[in-house]
Order: sequence, then structure tokens, then C-alpha cells
Amino acid sequence: MPVGAAAERGPGWSDTRLLLRRLREVMGSEAEGEARLNQMVRLVANNMVAEVCSVYLRRAGDVLELFATHGLNPDAVHRTRLRVGEGVIGDVALQAKALALSDARAHPDFAYRPETGEEEFHSMLGVPVLRGGKVIGVLAVQNRTQRHYTEDEIETLQTIAMVTAELVNQRGFISAEEMRLADSDSVLPARLTGIKLNGGPAIGQAVLHQPRPVIREVISDDVQLEQERLKSALSRMHTALDTMLEDTALQDQGEHRDVLETYRLIAADRGWLKRILEATKGGLTAEAAVLKVQDETKARLRQLNDPFLRERMTDFTDLANRLLQHLSEDYPDDDSDLAEAPDDMIVIAQSMGPAELLDYDRERVRAVVLEEGSPTSHVAIVARALDIPVVGRVKGLLAQVEPGDTIIVDGDHAQVFLRPGEDVQAGFRDTIQGSEARAEIRAAMRELPAVTADGVEISMNLNVGLLVDMAALHETGADGVGLYRTEIPFMVRSAFPGVNEQAELYERVFDLADDKPVVFRTLDIGGDKALPYLNEPRDENPAMGWRAIRIGMDRPAMLRQQMRALIRAARGRALHILFPMISEVAEFITARRLLDIELARAADSDREVPEVVKVGAMLEVPALIWQLPALTREADFISVGSNDLVQFLYASDRGNPRLAQRYDALSPPVLTMLRTVADGCTDTGTPLTVCGEMAGTPLEAMALLGLGFRRLSMSAPAIEPVKAMLRSLDVAALQSYLAQVVGSSDHSLRNKLRDFARDHHVAL
Ligand code: PEP
Ligand code: MG
Repeated sequence: MPVGAAAERGPGWSDTRLLLRRLREVMGSEAEGEARLNQMVRLVANNMVAEVCSVYLRRAGDVLELFATHGLNPDAVHRTRLRVGEGVIGDVALQAKALALSDARAHPDFAYRPETGEEEFHSMLGVPVLRGGKVIGVLAVQNRTQRHYTEDEIETLQTIAMVTAELVNQRGFISAEEMRLADSDSVLPARLTGIKLNGGPAIGQAVLHQPRPVIREVISDDVQLEQERLKSALSRMHTALDTMLEDTALQDQGEHRDVLETYRLIAADRGWLKRILEATKGGLTAEAAVLKVQDETKARLRQLNDPFLRERMTDFTDLANRLLQHLSEDYPDDDSDLAEAPDDMIVIAQSMGPAELLDYDRERVRAVVLEEGSPTSHVAIVARALDIPVVGRVKGLLAQVEPGDTIIVDGDHAQVFLRPGEDVQAGFRDTIQGSEARAEIRAAMRELPAVTADGVEISMNLNVGLLVDMAALHETGADGVGLYRTEIPFMVRSAFPGVNEQAELYERVFDLADDKPVVFRTLDIGGDKALPYLNEPRDENPAMGWRAIRIGMDRPAMLRQQMRALIRAARGRALHILFPMISEVAEFITARRLLDIELARAADSDREVPEVVKVGAMLEVPALIWQLPALTREADFISVGSNDLVQFLYASDRGNPRLAQRYDALSPPVLTMLRTVADGCTDTGTPLTVCGEMAGTPLEAMALLGLGFRRLSMSAPAIEPVKAMLRSLDVAALQSYLAQVVGSSDHSLRNKLRDFARDHHVAL
């Protein structure tokens, strides 16, 4: 029951600011951690006209422990413990929201703790102490009378809770480890699965790609200044968002547009802004106010089961981070958020662009784990070139990983182990050491020729997507670049590059290759490799949609520009051009004609022309197999894109994790199909390469040699193991073995091929 009105009103904003000012002194004082907490609770109790102020902090096992109190029995400190959900304090933590009760004892969850001596207090106001949207404690005031706490008082206590969170975090009342232990979601070891984007083992510490921003100051004296900073940062943020939205290149891009529109809606949400401005009125800096509202919003959304609303959490976080970034422009020299990166980083991200991965110190990144991503995503291709294991499409990753967590990444099996026990870590370290030792042995093999045990020469080539990959050409001793994916440089830009710019890039590729041949594949865009500036609606079935040479046919100017650039760059050298996703010979002929036009044009100009031009077709669409005789008449060479070929043969999306294990590239139908291709090319003397992922794994590469393939193209790290395999292989023996088993009705010949390798001492 409320008592006298004057005593009821509680402190207004100016009082809150005064209180915060004093709290700042406490935060900056020399006092030891807990003494500082004691000063704080005393100050709050006095200023809020409360007999009691207490801080409970969350500890391991979902327990809230009384850490400091003014007004309760001091002996109860560290003795009184409540489970989350137990009593009124536990309720505040469980619900992650403020609870104001004029008669706490009448509350059905009231849990009486005699050691506290709290029986004399009737009313209670508790608010959660939040950090990163998680409850790390509870701050409570109590009064003897049956008080009715006002909205202002609730807001004030929430603001103080924000300061408490900073105090707890900065001054180390509870170690980071203990804080983590207190969060039951993020304490247990967990095994997450995804899809393999790049194989290999790694162990290290989690580093969030976009970490929570660190704020310099929590409390400010100057409300007006903070509000002005906030408004100015907001307006800069709006301008930046508008520019992004108005960028004509993005006009029809559904996904980008949706995301940006959502941002804009949330950014313009008056409630959100109002709450941030209100928080500055209470004496918080602009940054602290943003974080306070972000934490409260996150905590509220966390309670919801609705996946759509929980999704919005990401939007809010993104937006708040954007705003914080604009606010940090006020302190250009501030590098407080540059946390020391560990030497063994496991980079954790929702998704990531290739340039962002390259921003990290390559020597320190052990692995990358993504919530999204696909094998053909640019980041995966770059990671492959850098030999960094990557697991993608790991559901619930960001919700479960904390910075600093120990993580084991098993790229080969697309598994991620969070917070593994010591024994698991030790076992895994042995595995890594074993594979490093093997790698050394293989490095020594660089100079040895790629010739099989029975004397068959094999051409080993590299798949390349960026200039950085070119160094590997000489490091591995590969014969040339079997596949240069020209679309990768197009994807990391914001506008279509002109002819000169393209020519410059290709010229550098030629220069870096020295005299080794490079096969340039023309743009294989579309599908999941969308260019943000190519304004086309998304296909329903992107892999089978408007992509690669199909776009080139419909937009010949684009294709011709690329050809012109390649011809210019090649001057005096051999030019190898490869057309992707050819489905019928007629398409190849049309594309080749476009090239002839460009070659004739170059010949008419004063420019030096390529010394020789070879034009090839990617064999990725099964229909082409029934056109092999005609194709081999038209094409100078053929390259099998087994990634696409197998997905189309089995009608099985190569990026779908649920289908990943279902069909096997070493199955009789795939091998029979590949044998038909190899035979067709051998009969006509057409140079034939495999440049899909199959060529880069020793067992699959072994099968390819057994089928008659003699040229392979793969990512750089695959060169050594594949060479080790082929140097120990008697191809003739495998060829006759395969002839016997390829017609079997087995699901896969994988085991049989493994047995063959073991029986014949092939180094896999
Ligand atoms: C393939 O499909 O096998 C191939 C090499 O092309 P990409 O992986 O770039 O689609
Ligand atoms: Mg392909």
C-alpha cells in the first residue's frame, strides 16, 4: 500500500545524474573490487531513499549470489544464493525484466532467506543487470514501507544496472571464465555440424568477426552534448543507409533491399530512438545509452520463442553496432576496441566476404566457422587458397560461441567442437601434429616429377581465383593454372570493371605465371555467385538458372568486353579461354564466334595479338556428353567441372547439407559417365582436364587416373597429397581393376577403391 506522496516520487533526472556522477567517482576510485561495489550500493540506497540496495551476480550453475548489500545483514554476502527463477530476485533474472512490488512477501515466488534479515522490508524493486543481452545479475532496492515504485525510479535503477554491468565487467569481480560459466547456454561442450567448405584440422580460440564494441565512457555530465552526438551520428547513419538504398545498382536486388529496408524501419522506429535519448537524459554517454537499449531489447527478444522476432535481434544488433561505429568517429584516434588477437584464431561469423578474411593476419587464422556460406562462396574459395579449414552453415553458432572459447574445427568432417574437454583437445592435437608431419614429408616432394609408379606422366594444375593464389603456382611446382575463376575479382567489387581494368588484372596474372599456361574461364556468375551490381531478379533454381555462359549469350557485350581484355593482356603469349556451363555445342560455337570477332578486331588494331589461342568448354551439364563427337570437333580442349556435373547427374544440390552424404562421386554411374568422357576425348586426341573438387582428393583423383584422365586441376594444398598418391600408383593395374567393378550395382565404389589402394600400397 503506497504511503505519503512526497516520499513516493523518487529522484528525478537531475538526481539520477547526480547519482551517476557520484558513481563515476566510485568507478574511478582506488578501492578494491568489492569495496567499490559496497560504495555503490550505499550510494544508490541513499539516493533512492531506500533502506536496502543489493547486488546479486550470476555464478556458474545458474545461481545468483549476493555480492554486496547496504541494508541487509552483511553476513549474508556470499552466503545467500538463489537459483535463477527462485524467489523474486530469481524471477527478475529469469524474466530479464524489472519487477516492482509494493508487497514482495505477497508474491507467489517470494523465497524467504532468514540470514538476510529481510523480513522487515515490504516493497522491492529489482532490475536485471544485462550484458550482451544476457542477465549477469540483479540489482534490487527494498523499502520497509509498502512503496509504489514510479516509472522514473525503475528507469533510474535500470540505468544504474547498466553502470553495474560495466563495473562488473571492467573491474573483474567475476572472471570472464566465471561469467561464461554462469551462462548455462555457453558453458557446456557442444558439437555442431555444418558443411565442409574447406577441409583440415584446427584448434584455437574463438574470435568474433564483428565483436561487441567496447565503449570508452559510461557516464557523462553533459546531456546536451551526448544528445547532439547521438543525433549527429544518427543522421550520418541515415545518410549512409540512404546512400546504400539509393545506389541504383542495388535497386532490384531483393535480398539486399529487404535487409536495408528493415534497417531503415528499425532505425526510424521512434520508440527505439526515444529510449536511447531518454537514457542519455539519465546521465549515460551516447554509446552507453545505445548499449543499454540494445541489451534491454535483446534480453526481451531472447525471451520470445517466435523465430521471426528472435531473428530481429540480429537486425537490432547490426543497427546498434552501426550507430556505435558512427559515434566512434567522434574519437578518431581511439583504438580501445582493438582487442589483442590470439595467435590461434578461429574466426566466427555469420557470413563473411573474401576481402574480410584477407584483412586478418593469415598466420594467426587457424580456421573459419560460419553460420552461412556455401562451397562456392568466395570466402570458401579464398580460404582454400590460403589452406584455412572452413565449416559453413553451422546452425545456432553465434548464439553458442563466446569470444575466447576453445574450439576444435574438423574441416574434413564439417564438425565444430565447442569448449572440448582436455582429453579431447589432447587427442586432437596429436592428430594435427600427425598431419603436419605428413605435410612436411610432402613438401619435400615438390621437386619430384608427377609420374605414376608405372611411368605415366600426369599434368598437375592449379585452381586459382585471386592474385594471392598465384604464388602457389611456383611454391607447388604445378604445371600451370588449369582454372582461373575470373568471376571472383568481379564479386568483390561494387561495380562492373571496364576493359582496361580487367586487362590490367589479367596481365598481372600472366606476369605472375611466367611462362606457365593459364586457363581463363569466362565469367561464371549467376546462381549463388551473384554480382550485386547486375540487376537481375533471383532465380528460383539458381544452379540451373540464368548463369555463366547463358548470361554471356544474352549479354554479349559483357562477354566481349572480357574477351577483349583477355586478348589485350595475352599479347604475344598463349591465351587459353574456357567457357563455363556449356549445355549444347551450338552455344560453344556462338561463344567462340564472339571471340573470333574480338580477335579480328584486335588484329585490325595496332595492338599485339596473342601468339596462340585455345578455346575450351567446361563439361558440367550431362547433356553435353551425348554431343561429345561434335564438341571435340569444335573445342580445343575440355575441362570437366565435376562439382556441377555430379549435382546435375543426381539432381542433388551440391550445397545442400542434407544431401551431402547421399550420393557419391565414386559411384558406378558417375564413374561410368566419366569413363565415357575420358574415352571420347582419348579417341579424338582432345586434351581433357578435371578441375572440380574431385581432382583434389587423393582417392577420387586416383579413380580419375584409373578412368584415363591425365590432367588434373586443384587447389594448391591438394597438389602434394595427390602427387604422393599418383607417384605410388600403378595406373595400369587400377585401370584393369576398375574395368571389372565399374558396372557394379554398389551405392559407391569408395570402399573397394580404398581396399585397392591399401592392397597396392598407394599413398592416400
Ligand atoms: C565445377 O563445377 O566443378 C567447377 C570447377 O566450377 P565451379 O566450382 O566454379 O562451379
Ligand atoms: Mg561449375
